[in-house]
Amino acid sequence: MKIMPNALCWCGSKQKYKRCHMNYDRIVKVKKTEGFVVPKKKWIKNNAQIEGIRESGKINTTILDYVATKIHIGMTTEEIDRLICEKTKELGGIPASLGYQGYPKSVCTSINDVVCHGIPSEKDVLHDGDIINVDVSTIYKDYYSDSSRTFLVGNVKPEVEKLVRVTKECMELGLKEVAPWKTFGKMSSVIDKYAQKHGYTVVRQIGGHGVGLEFHEEPWIGYIDGFGEKLLMSPGMIFTIEPMINMGDGEIYVYEEDDWTVYTSDGLPSAQWEIMVLVTETGYEVLAW
Ligand SMILES: [Zn+2]
Repeated sequence: MKIMPNALCWCGSKQKYKRCHMNYDRIVKVKKTEGFVVPKKKWIKNNAQIEGIRESGKINTTILDYVATKIHIGMTTEEIDRLICEKTKELGGIPASLGYQGYPKSVCTSINDVVCHGIPSEKDVLHDGDIINVDVSTIYKDYYSDSSRTFLVGNVKPEVEKLVRVTKECMELGLKEVAPWKTFGKMSSVIDKYAQKHGYTVVRQIGGHGVGLEFHEEPWIGYIDGFGEKLLMSPGMIFTIEPMINMGDGEIYVYEEDDWTVYTSDGLPSAQWEIMVLVTETGYEVLAW
């Protein structure tokens, strides 16, 4: 479809097309002829949406900063859930995970060999030497944000501490590959190779996602070599970088009793870091961490 230069832009900015995404569409046209997969228009956020999602992201980051000061030996994951639920409400937000597809809590708390989606419980107590991923997601004025960190509890074995550190480095190295008109493939390949170099395995079945107007949007993002080799990043996209990295092999299973908790099959630990990133005209902006 041809849009007239003076018509309103498709992105919803209420700007004239020629002053908004006309040049963007020119680039898209060229990239398509070069064989790349270009982002769908609905994946592109306009400035008003970005501003709203940025505010939501600030709250999410504040909540994780707060949780970081509270984690201690003897704490239950139920307590973490309560702290997060209260803090989110205090900041004017709503926990996005609460009630999402029937999920019963305000946060995911994943200890040691839990890969992700651990459900907070009175029964789960933090012990000296544990690692715990706390995955926070917030709705603020209808805008969604999502990020997670893995915390060390007390004295963690050096090899487990290294898994957590390398996982963070994987996320950071991936972030460096975020730029307009670069492929997701480059980012994913860098993450996978760095994990492999340390003898670890990136979980294949669970990945990242677009986010902002909804909790989980397209595209699904894998962090394994070979994913998205032709799929382009473009300005206005917002997505998570959240590799889950296992000390052992990549095999996982979902605990049947709750249908949520994902464990490593070999019982070895798994770590994860998640940030939410915007592709800008010149590079990237981290919106939540
Ligand atoms: Zn536009």
